[in-house]
Amino acid sequence: MANSNDLREAYKKTAPFEVEFTQRILQSEALYDAYSFLAKDEIREGLTEPQNRAVDITLKDMKLAGLGLKGEDKIRFNDIEAKLSILEDQFQNNLLDFSKQYSIVIKDRSRLDGVPGILLDEMAASALAVGEKDSWLVTLALSIYVPFLRHCKDRALREELFRAFTTRASKGDLDNSEIIKEILKLKTEKSKLLGYNTSAEVSMVKKTIGSVDAVNDLHTRLRRACYPAAMRDLVELKEFASKQGFEDEIRPWDLAFWMERHKDALFGVTDEELRPYFSLENVLIQLFKVANSLFGIDIKEVEHPEVEVWHPDVRFFNVFREGHLISSFYFDLFSRPETKRGGAWVYPVLLKSHVTGANPVININCNFPNPVDSTPSLLSLQEVQICFHEFGHALQHMLTTITNADVSGLNGVEFDAMEFASQFMEPFVTEPSIVQWTHYKTGESLPTATMEKLRNMKKHMSETLLLRDLLFLGAVDMELHHDYDAFSSETTPQDVFDKVAEDYPAVRFGEAKGFLCQFHHIFADIYTAGYYSYVYSLILSLDAHQAFQEVGMDNKQEIAMLGKRFADTVLALGGGKHPLEVFKLFRGREPRHDAFLEYFGLLQ
Ligand SMILES: [Zn+2]
Repeated sequence: MANSNDLREAYKKTAPFEVEFTQRILQSEALYDAYSFLAKDEIREGLTEPQNRAVDITLKDMKLAGLGLKGEDKIRFNDIEAKLSILEDQFQNNLLDFSKQYSIVIKDRSRLDGVPGILLDEMAASALAVGEKDSWLVTLALSIYVPFLRHCKDRALREELFRAFTTRASKGDLDNSEIIKEILKLKTEKSKLLGYNTSAEVSMVKKTIGSVDAVNDLHTRLRRACYPAAMRDLVELKEFASKQGFEDEIRPWDLAFWMERHKDALFGVTDEELRPYFSLENVLIQLFKVANSLFGIDIKEVEHPEVEVWHPDVRFFNVFREGHLISSFYFDLFSRPETKRGGAWVYPVLLKSHVTGANPVININCNFPNPVDSTPSLLSLQEVQICFHEFGHALQHMLTTITNADVSGLNGVEFDAMEFASQFMEPFVTEPSIVQWTHYKTGESLPTATMEKLRNMKKHMSETLLLRDLLFLGAVDMELHHDYDAFSSETTPQDVFDKVAEDYPAVRFGEAKGFLCQFHHIFADIYTAGYYSYVYSLILSLDAHQAFQEVGMDNKQEIAMLGKRFADTVLALGGGKHPLEVFKLFRGREPRHDAFLEYFGLLQ
């Protein structure tokens, strides 16, 4: 991506046409009649399964876009859609503006004890950029916030930053509270117009899990499984902290800090020690090797003059299977803050389609550190996992055999199964029989024992984080979009948040009133009554991954066979078959929770 003023202007000019065009398709009576005709039993018989799925998905999309509504209802529906898009935009802007405004200037270096050098440099540079010499600027950027809470020894500073971050856009003229109420009301009204009781019911129309009850049940069961382990871990953490002279209660702004100290004491492996083993070139070599040994594909780079790219750092690769070119991808690896947004993402440039005859072309974007002088780009463990994760998304597009673009690759896949293939790839990063990590200077291998430590490190206090970051917030999301009466004058969304928090006493985000005002996923993004999808996808991924563990990672022949089956089912069928059917084709049975529970150390 190369963001520029010209591009922004062009986008601004064309965006309304795109919205209008999409709306026109989704609300076209003629198209709806045509699709309804295709949905007749006698016609369906002559269609393939992917074609039938494409018909069903399109009909669902059209109904959810208000097709079939008449007169006043239709006018009101379109009015609600327009209002929602403005409110969601406002929500995000308030959040962004608040984060931009907020910073703490630190003059006294001793207050930053514990903060890693690389972060100090970044904060000093930010301070200079706003004219503050010999100072450090602490901001709410995730790249600062997360490591800062983990490492800064100054407890008061941690508390200040935690409270600011978790209550972004909850006060003054950037307050999102009223916007949340209005969004909830409009979404309820919209759901009723569509013939559903709540927005959670609407959300379920395009999910694998099937019903609101099934989501609630999932949250309750996992919460009960997590709870004793999380409480045990907290007691252990408190004992550990008290041995280091910290006698106070562990508050939310202490959790990450003491967890990190505890993890260091238990495992003694730091990110900085690992980086030299994860040079970007080696990460790509290992990733492509995994793709070859599991899915039988060969990946070859195409040099620049042959292919046009938007930045000299962008690389282009062709993917071959049994000698045939089946797909290509751009790999935009490095961070370029001035023209490229943060994070990592994948999108298809070209979908596989029998209409165009095209092979899929995918764009994979990451924000890895740039090489400095003679030192190559060295990744953290988490960045390596991100690389494997995004490649998993790309694989689903690249290896699809479905030629109906509506359901090829990730298209048409139910939202809660979208992260299946991507999360499936992550655990391979620490499998010594699958990947070999060598030091970029000495060529020395990362010891198998360290790989084992890395696997265990991932489990460290993982149930506490699962409880806090996924289950609790997932439960709040469902409660607000299903049980809460948005038109009530007696209870507020904050009351709902507090009520759910009573079921999760180990969590206590509640200490910071106003958390909802920055919870953009469920109010201004695509996670409405869908936050549980992170957990649901992970259950599928880990269950599938366990199939490989069962045959033994060093059993090359079995692993290759399983890999082929994974490629022929999960990666090939994409949206052309219901995700649970796809899963069953791979695993030979329905998904189970065991692998998930084991991963989080919850199987007794
Ligand atoms: Zn993903």
